[in-house]
Amino acid sequence: MKTIVLTFDDAVQSQLTNVVPVLKRFGFGATFFICRFSDEWRAQHSEHLMGLEELRELQQQGFEIGNHTWSHPDMCALSDEENAREVDSLSEWLRSGGITEAPVFAYPGGPYAANATPLLRQRGFLAARTTETGAWDIEHCDPMRAPATPIQGDDDALFFKAISYADGPHPAVIIFHGVPDLVHPWVDTPPECFTKWMTYLHNNDYRVIGMAQAIQKVKD
Ligand SMILES: [Zn+2]
Repeated sequence: MKTIVLTFDDAVQSQLTNVVPVLKRFGFGATFFICRFSDEWRAQHSEHLMGLEELRELQQQGFEIGNHTWSHPDMCALSDEENAREVDSLSEWLRSGGITEAPVFAYPGGPYAANATPLLRQRGFLAARTTETGAWDIEHCDPMRAPATPIQGDDDALFFKAISYADGPHPAVIIFHGVPDLVHPWVDTPPECFTKWMTYLHNNDYRVIGMAQAIQKVKD
């Protein structure tokens, strides 16, 4: 059985309204990587972004809530102190809402930030997701450099390429944003495409889970 690890970035409201019902219908797991962006951005787009109440609902439905930093910076460009503040602020905010963070992280924007890995290990994260495409060999790859493939738009070929990396026990990790994503249209996924692709995974007997669950399965 091939495994797909589903991840959804940036706490987009449509993930709760449009993604969750599809995942529930098929019994799929997923990780939602949460960030808050800047105060200014958040003030302008509050209706676009999930807050603590929505995130609690996601967690109650059985989904993983992961850390994607507070303001979505380029971590390579920040000092150790700044990166610590970015990671810890998000953790504290989730905790303040009664949300238990899954021990997984996603680098904002995607690129691997080697300078942040001592911090991430120190904070107890078991894996950090990049956008370096390929199969995720959980046992042998650098846990702070997990590969994943972003999908956007309505191109079937992109989706099938992304899931083709699933290889025996090694999952393919896929990144979605909003379904749809009206504020970040360059990472938009049309809802009808999302439903079609999830139906394909269901009909073809893929196991579809979150990142922390995939790590746990390897340990078991
Ligand atoms: Zn992001």
